[in-house]
Amino acid sequence: MLALTNVGRTFGAKVALDDVSVRVDRGEFVCVVGASGSGKSTLLSIVAGLVAPTSGAVTLDGAPVVGPGPERGLVCQSGAVYPWRTVERNIAFGLELLGLSRAERKARIDWYLEETGLEPWRRSLPKQLSGGQRQRVAIARALACEPEVLLLDEPFGALDVQTKEDMQVFLRGVWRDTGTTVLMVTHDVEEAVFLGGQVVVLASDPGRVAADVVVDLPADRDLAVKRTREFLALRARVEDLVRTFHQRVSDRI
Ligand code: ADP
Ligand code: MG
Repeated sequence: MLALTNVGRTFGAKVALDDVSVRVDRGEFVCVVGASGSGKSTLLSIVAGLVAPTSGAVTLDGAPVVGPGPERGLVCQSGAVYPWRTVERNIAFGLELLGLSRAERKARIDWYLEETGLEPWRRSLPKQLSGGQRQRVAIARALACEPEVLLLDEPFGALDVQTKEDMQVFLRGVWRDTGTTVLMVTHDVEEAVFLGGQVVVLASDPGRVAADVVVDLPADRDLAVKRTREFLALRARVEDLVRTFHQRVSDRI
């Protein structure tokens, strides 16, 4: 279980996060939504161990998070794949750091290429791929290290709507196949409700937990679920929460 307990973070006088507590059970898919500036990236960077909290703590299965570690794999919006490495060499990168044998590396690379549908592009360079495929490479590279938790910071934010929806279906499939715990932040409410089993709403200024919504949609979801009454009601509820907490901040300005 991943637990953030009373986490706070300030940058000078700016309170980016205030008293944030979030719990992600093993194998769950939790999405955090909030307006731009609500502290989503700060929250994820703290879990990744790249930013230290100024108060509170993060633990994974009871062990305190004090820095980056292979049990937490991070994928950010720009993907950040190595442009000079082929797809398979990008996936191999983390495995070399883990010190796996050549045979183990090959088995993992083959499996994750297949799982992410990248097998036909294994010898391609990132510049030969589309934006969506490059994000698949970034996700495959993180997954190949078999982290306990996959951390995603608006990974589909730069993609067009059709590609984004393909990637959402892809990510949901990968999550179901691998059983990896996922914590994803996004400003896209529809994306959060489609992907998550739980949606945490962040309020802005200071960034704090405004609401925690359970998504009681079928586990087996495809894009058609987005047109069901249950989905639309949940989406409207979360949108209202985001808007309400954004409104309160605007009222103060
Ligand atoms: P989000 O990802 O939701 O857009 P961020 O976590 O990036 O929000 O930022 C939350 C707030 O903290 C913003 O007001 C931002 O300007 C501030 N902030 C984030 N990182 C830093 C930093 N390294 N130095 C100063 N301010 C920062
Ligand atoms: Mg951000």
